[in-house]
Amino acid sequence: VVRKICARCGRPEEPGRPFIGNLCLECYLEEKGVAKLPGEIEVTICPRCGSLRVQGAWLPPEGSIEETLRAAVEAEILSKAKPNPEVREIWVENIVVRMEDRNRGVARVLLGARFHGGIEARYEAIIPLRVKHVLCPSCLRKAGKAYEAILQLRGEDGRLSDDERREVSRLLRRLPRHLYDTIGEVEEKREGLDLKILDQASARSIASKLRNRLAAKVVETHKVVGRRGGKAKVQTTILVRIPRIREGDIVIYKDRPAVVKGISGNRIILEEAGGRRTSLSGEEFWESGGLEIVGEKEVKVLMVTAITRDLIYLLDMDNYSTLDIPLSKARLAGTLKPGDKVKAVMRSGELHILGKI
Ligand SMILES: [Zn+2]
Ligand SMILES: [Zn+2]
Repeated sequence: VVRKICARCGRPEEPGRPFIGNLCLECYLEEKGVAKLPGEIEVTICPRCGSLRVQGAWLPPEGSIEETLRAAVEAEILSKAKPNPEVREIWVENIVVRMEDRNRGVARVLLGARFHGGIEARYEAIIPLRVKHVLCPSCLRKAGKAYEAILQLRGEDGRLSDDERREVSRLLRRLPRHLYDTIGEVEEKREGLDLKILDQASARSIASKLRNRLAAKVVETHKVVGRRGGKAKVQTTILVRIPRIREGDIVIYKDRPAVVKGISGNRIILEEAGGRRTSLSGEEFWESGGLEIVGEKEVKVLMVTAITRDLIYLLDMDNYSTLDIPLSKARLAGTLKPGDKVKAVMRSGELHILGKI
């Protein structure tokens, strides 16, 4: 019988010293632990009621703050820990949380593990803990904290469409935590969304992110809503108007059709027939009264059937009628060959081919 020798400490396998692969259990645990654990755990709790935020939702408190923190750490460990390949399952046996100050502490987590061979072990991990204190929405309301600003999100000509509501909600969810947490209430109105924001600076910052991302127009107004101790109480309203155009739309810019390629840094990027890119700022967009969107009916889907020295022959895929256009009257996107399908718009006697499909 060949007895195993631990590759790390040199001790032999014997009753009471089980092996995992070529290491004794003790060495295995020291080298590898039992699972890949998060390097830090972040927990958000409401300082007033002790509610815990887990993946965006607020859960009611579980007893004392200590117990709440333990529950939060356990949930994090169980969702993020990845057991080692040799480990069949892990569980949490005990958690002790020690706070160094209000925001920082450590969690001592005692894990139990069962290996594939049936061996069981205990492993203690010490994981830094970061606690964020954020008032939960219901405490915000109860505290009666006055919102400093209202962010009104509206459409280009008034009403915000359902698509625009969804798009905006998606962008808001992606805001950095410290900004997202300043949104107290969201009021769904017929004309759009009203967001109540705890402080003015955050409201401005959210508005400016929407401007960069959507080329929105931002207008700030102030109103005295009361007095407290001789001081005027001012409420800020920030109106954020969102252009109707979306990526992929065909619009008319300087009398020519162009495809909206995207919006970033408050600039709308367009591509004309021929592939030439151009852009306009949000300010230019709003000063010019917006961009005309070419209706779907006006956008033709065509197939190139032949190209000669001076003519391009196309088949209209909607009604199978044929077109022959002098090349001098066609603005092409790149090189085309028979069989290519393209999107095109007729405008002032010219065919603008806006890219292949
Ligand atoms: Zn060993
Ligand atoms: Zn609360």
